[in-house]
Amino acid sequence: MPTIANTAPAPLSDHWADETLTLLEALIARPSVTPQDAGCLELIGERLSALGFALERMDGGPAEARVSNLWALKPGTDPEGEILVFAGHTDVVPTGDLNHWHSDPFVPSIRDGKLYGRGAADMKTSLAAMVVAVEHFVRKHAKHRGGIAFLLTSDEEGPALHGTKLCVEQLRARGQRMDYCIVGEPTSVQQLGDTVKNGRRGSLSGRLRVLGVQGHVAYPQLARNPVHEAAAALAELVATSWDSGNAHFPATSFQISNVQAGTGAGNVIPGDFWVDFNFRFSTESTAESLKSRVHALLDAHQLRYELSWTLSGQPFLTPVGTLSQALSAAILHHTGVQTELSTTGGTSDGRFIATLCPQVVEFGPLNASIHKIDEYVPLDQLGPLAAIYAKTLENLLL
Ligand SMILES: [Zn+2]
Repeated sequence: MPTIANTAPAPLSDHWADETLTLLEALIARPSVTPQDAGCLELIGERLSALGFALERMDGGPAEARVSNLWALKPGTDPEGEILVFAGHTDVVPTGDLNHWHSDPFVPSIRDGKLYGRGAADMKTSLAAMVVAVEHFVRKHAKHRGGIAFLLTSDEEGPALHGTKLCVEQLRARGQRMDYCIVGEPTSVQQLGDTVKNGRRGSLSGRLRVLGVQGHVAYPQLARNPVHEAAAALAELVATSWDSGNAHFPATSFQISNVQAGTGAGNVIPGDFWVDFNFRFSTESTAESLKSRVHALLDAHQLRYELSWTLSGQPFLTPVGTLSQALSAAILHHTGVQTELSTTGGTSDGRFIATLCPQVVEFGPLNASIHKIDEYVPLDQLGPLAAIYAKTLENLLL
């Protein structure tokens, strides 16, 4: 468990919270369900443009599911200076059944010290706090040495093919430099600042089709039951220890997500058995090593099968360094909380950025309600979050 340091948080003017709340409410009021942006990037772009950022839209994808992307850059005074990128997404997941929400998910609503609305936690609070942080930083340090950039997309929650991935490919092709990146995913678990992600596990999915021969249950000798033949192999897959993880990653996990067989009739042996599964893997395994171990296991059970693979993310890791230390120090300054680095949880767009940027971390507000009914952010996290982002800029770019 994170420990609370004895230092008291630095005093903070109400401006930080008020300004973040105002922008956050405006963002939540824009119903940007993936891949819709609903004007969020325009609003953010206006604020950045007023600070001297050069804006570039990098929209992509097919016309019927157009993805909105924004790259915004404000160089520092030193042409050789480092560049810190704030990355994030304006899109939100669907609301689910509106009858279960206690207030309209796209009308920000304050109750019991919380702001409710779709995207409040994932991740419009971070976006608002990043903009407010940069406004304060640029006003205070007009001649900042290092540069600041924003890389924002409206497709992180969906297929994520034409969002950050596309932008990173374009930025790489033109040789854009990036030194540090903070992704605003909500990472805090119990209190603001307790957790920063410095990497993510890889994600590898398999779709297995075990081939049998359909027949009458009364005449099994004339059929081949693929469920029976696969059962022992599945049990072995479930029981296998794939690796033990390492100092940065938990052990690789294997989960079956869907199975399907049968015609619905009680007297028919099914002809096919479909099994979907997913690995969340550490850097102790690779996609290739996991694939070949699964194939070897299935072959050892003499199954007749087809197997297709989808690699949705390679694992990445940012070891403790300049960025994680600057962010941890800023968190300690504004919350008194000692941060823990973690690589747990799902994938994020950090996996794409890490192919171009040597140091990528993720940090944002409480994640307890993400993707849920009545998503919220605690109001007392808004000001400190913006101040932490600003302090991190001061720690790195002056
Ligand atoms: Zn998110």
